[in-house]
Amino acid sequence: MTKEVDPVMKAFLPFAEFSKVVLDGCLVVDATGRILKSNQETAAITGLTSKQLLKLQSMDESIKIYIGDAHLPVLELLQKMSIYRADQVKAVSSGGDELVVTLSYFPFVVDGVVIGAFILLRNMTGEADRDKNYSDKNKSSITDSLTGLYNRRYFEDTMATEEARIALLPVGSDHRNLSIIMGDIDHFKKVNDKYGHPAGDYVILTVAKIFQECFRKTDIVCRYGGEEFLVILPASDAEGSAVAANKARAAIEAYRFVFEGVTIPINISIGVAQMMVGFETGKGTIARADAALYESKHNGRNQVSIHTGNQIIGTNKTAA
Ligand code: GH3
Ligand code: MG
Ligand code: MG
Repeated sequence: MTKEVDPVMKAFLPFAEFSKVVLDGCLVVDATGRILKSNQETAAITGLTSKQLLKLQSMDESIKIYIGDAHLPVLELLQKMSIYRADQVKAVSSGGDELVVTLSYFPFVVDGVVIGAFILLRNMTGEADRDKNYSDKNKSSITDSLTGLYNRRYFEDTMATEEARIALLPVGSDHRNLSIIMGDIDHFKKVNDKYGHPAGDYVILTVAKIFQECFRKTDIVCRYGGEEFLVILPASDAEGSAVAANKARAAIEAYRFVFEGVTIPINISIGVAQMMVGFETGKGTIARADAALYESKHNGRNQVSIHTGNQIIGTNKTAA
């Protein structure tokens, strides 16, 4: 006795093996939306066994698909004559579970009529959360937990990238300019000693916020270590960067730091250096910014100094 093969199943045969190995829920439905075949993942998504799925009148009884807020009945889906895909759509399983799925639809068309379809359902539920966790994790590896500023590692990576980028630019382009600002809070040990470590943390956090507000969005503000900050200023020369540095310095001087009702006077000293492209590495620029910072400390703190390449000069505080 030869068993007649359903024409829909016949159309499905090329996919039969595939549905066993694929991680998506696979369904074959006839023109009425009744399920003829399903795989294990379909059972996992819908919450019904393969046997139960075969007994249903319509796929809609196992899972309801929503495009936006509108329910997309399987019969409507079956009106589509060509391949269709919808990403991140809402679905509700027979048990009432809300899911996010990717729906792929492949109709079997014979003589211009859809006789059935092969449907894939990929369970994406929680994927958005996983993506968020992943990016949060990525973010935490490049930022500092106290201030949220970029950390030293990110700073060093960015300097290396910037160095390579600049090397490719034509000589004379403003974009070859790159400056570094290094800031260090004045007499910070005394802040910790006199007001306590939590007060010190509050000061670091607040200075970080002020720095972020003072510099351009394109500047990269980093916490280099304890109470040291570094800023990368792309497309900026030393003079322009010193003006920006003085603004930040003045903003910190003017800000009233109050911790648990106690006012803490805070100042910052800053060193500025512009990268001498082709003559030094990023590390060399950082060392010169550090030397300029040392000069600011040496000359009485709460000021900005520029390392020009062959000398260190102080800046007029009113430049801000
Ligand atoms: P100067 O004006 O010369 O910079 O004097 P200073 O006291 O600030 O000297 P220095 O920069 O060497 O001191 C940094 C101190 O910052 C040392 C350490 O006790 C403190 N520190 C480093 N990291 C943290 C932190 O995360 N929180 C707090 N509260 N203190 C920190
Ligand atoms: Mg320091
Ligand atoms: Mg200090």
